[in-house]
Amino acid sequence: MSSSDEEGSGEEYLFKIVIIGDSAVGKSNLLSRYARNEFNAHSKATIGVEFQTQSMEIDGKEVKAQIWDTAGQERFRAVTSAYYRGAVGALIVYDITRKTTFESVGRWLDELKTHSDTTVAMMLVGNKCDLENIRDVSVEDGKGLAEAEGLFFMETSALDSTNVIKAFELVIQEIYNNVS
Ligand code: GDP
Ligand code: MG
Repeated sequence: MSSSDEEGSGEEYLFKIVIIGDSAVGKSNLLSRYARNEFNAHSKATIGVEFQTQSMEIDGKEVKAQIWDTAGQERFRAVTSAYYRGAVGALIVYDITRKTTFESVGRWLDELKTHSDTTVAMMLVGNKCDLENIRDVSVEDGKGLAEAEGLFFMETSALDSTNVIKAFELVIQEIYNNVS
């Protein structure tokens, strides 16, 4: 996970982060917004890309986040254990306009915990906060669940970019804190 030290260049870190949550909550768009600053209004479930890598600097060190997207298999409730293997961070995403996706968060957390054998930095993400007019999950309910489960919490919009970088960078920072 953390490797090392060519002279002068300092340490390098590579962290695996998974994005989970019900279908169509905006997982793929959160990743494309973060990694490529792109949004797709008609995103296809499967693009075939397993993960994208994005770097940031912490304490003068290069920290690479390898962020995994589900490629749509969550529709079949069968995200494989390989997906979770080695993950040290997770974004659990729901859609603030669909309460059922919020009600699924517990199941996703259980699956994550079942498959992880190490400390995982976890962020609960209420996505699509640009759709305030059709909100179905209150900010308070999101915060409350996050507190009860010991998760960070943020509402985001992959559409207008609200909090997207913040959410990923907070998770990456927390992973760094966990390992350093
Ligand atoms: P995934 O199945 O969880 O990967 O969800 P997608 O990223 O494919 O998004 C599902 C649908 O929601 C697409 O039509 C997106 O354009 C839309 N979407 C994703 N994020 C947002 C957002 O923040 N705001 C709005 N208004 N729509 C979004
Ligand atoms: Mg997707």
